[in-house]
Amino acid sequence: MDTQAPLSGNRPDLSHHWMPFTANRDFHLEPKMLCRAEGCYYYGERGQQILDGCSGLFTTPAGHGRTEIADAVRDQLLTLDYAPSFTRGHPQSFRLASRIAALTPESMDRIFFGNSGSEAVETALKIALAYHRARGEGGRDLFVSRERAYHGVNFGGVALSGMVPNRRAFGPAGPRVVHMRHTFLEQNRGTIGQPMYGAELADDLERLVALHGAENIAACVVEPIAGSTGVLVPPQGYLERLRELCTRHGILLIFDEVITGFGRLGHNYAAQAFGVVPDIITMAKAITNGAQPMAAVAVSREIHDTIVDKAPDGQVEFFHGYTFSAHPASCAASLAALDIYRDEGLFDRARQASAYFLDRIEALQDLALVTDVRGYGMLAGVDLAPSERPGLCGHIVQKRLFDAGLHLKTTGDAAIIAPAFVMETGQIDTLVDTLRDVLTELA
Ligand code: PLP
Repeated sequence: MDTQAPLSGNRPDLSHHWMPFTANRDFHLEPKMLCRAEGCYYYGERGQQILDGCSGLFTTPAGHGRTEIADAVRDQLLTLDYAPSFTRGHPQSFRLASRIAALTPESMDRIFFGNSGSEAVETALKIALAYHRARGEGGRDLFVSRERAYHGVNFGGVALSGMVPNRRAFGPAGPRVVHMRHTFLEQNRGTIGQPMYGAELADDLERLVALHGAENIAACVVEPIAGSTGVLVPPQGYLERLRELCTRHGILLIFDEVITGFGRLGHNYAAQAFGVVPDIITMAKAITNGAQPMAAVAVSREIHDTIVDKAPDGQVEFFHGYTFSAHPASCAASLAALDIYRDEGLFDRARQASAYFLDRIEALQDLALVTDVRGYGMLAGVDLAPSERPGLCGHIVQKRLFDAGLHLKTTGDAAIIAPAFVMETGQIDTLVDTLRDVLTELA
């Protein structure tokens, strides 16, 4: 990067915006600003090009600056900018719900909208509680989650979370949750794709049933691949076993597909990639290709009908929703994004590009700083040897990478890579080579 180049515009006062999940004081010392985006690149304050190795934040698989989406949002805002989301409808949300229902596993075709992954998770938890209550099993109010899970930042999601800093701060305030073990196992180290060992970890659910009683458990919530905590791919047979146990004990299985939805694993959802159908799927991130905030929850018809058909005529069936649920501009953005995904065959493209991408990632194992690599589809995690304090190495790496022209997310000491599905082979080479150079330099 040309560090001497002038800033491209007047830098605004940085003191008022309290940034989320950011070391704010550190950011003020070395601001990493993104000013423009096109295709697979961001552009910084000095006009420097930064390769986007994380599709924004897993949001933008079709690349940045898609005019089809911008045009759809503009047209929508000038046609119907906002419609109250309670007791009033608008055509776009119904169109979009049908389009999403065509992508989800068969029978999971009832769709509830929100604005963020965190909202989708809260919605899913409430749907699970409402379902059991409607069936006369209101005692089922305990949730089963997993260590090293991330389910967003609202109280339900934080209670589910298996990320220690998030739990320490706010965990106890949410619903009752017990945790299964995470699926990282030493003997799977270095595995790309589904690891061989660990299907039996799903039997933790059976142990928790034995301890707490199935009649008290509402749902088991898992990310099919734990994304934010370093890309933990489920061992072969693990999700199948969870499905079997949930069915046996009348526990709903919720897949949090906020990252894995919309083609990230080369299929519509992880449910299809791994051939395991849950009862509820949460999704967000790529639903609009990142162009508008939006999230959705897909539920089976059985769950929907149990809740909706039980209520007296004219009464609200589910006391939940957001002012901006199914915002017209978000619906328009999502419809345009889904058109792009379909017309450009992007989920197939992700599946085809995956082998090359993962091969290149796997080769990073020879680096001194790298302690493990994992991946599936267009998603990979690279564990870095921690320095004196957990997370410090990851923090330094993401800053150095930015200065070297690559945007990646790090969580703790794991680098997470999630290229856009439109990324060319040469750009994947640049991504991995830049990562290799920076990690070599820092070793
Ligand atoms: N669930 C999962 C699996 C996630 O990865 C995330 C975000 O990374 C969330 C929920 C929360 O989404 P949001 O940040 O949009 O609230």
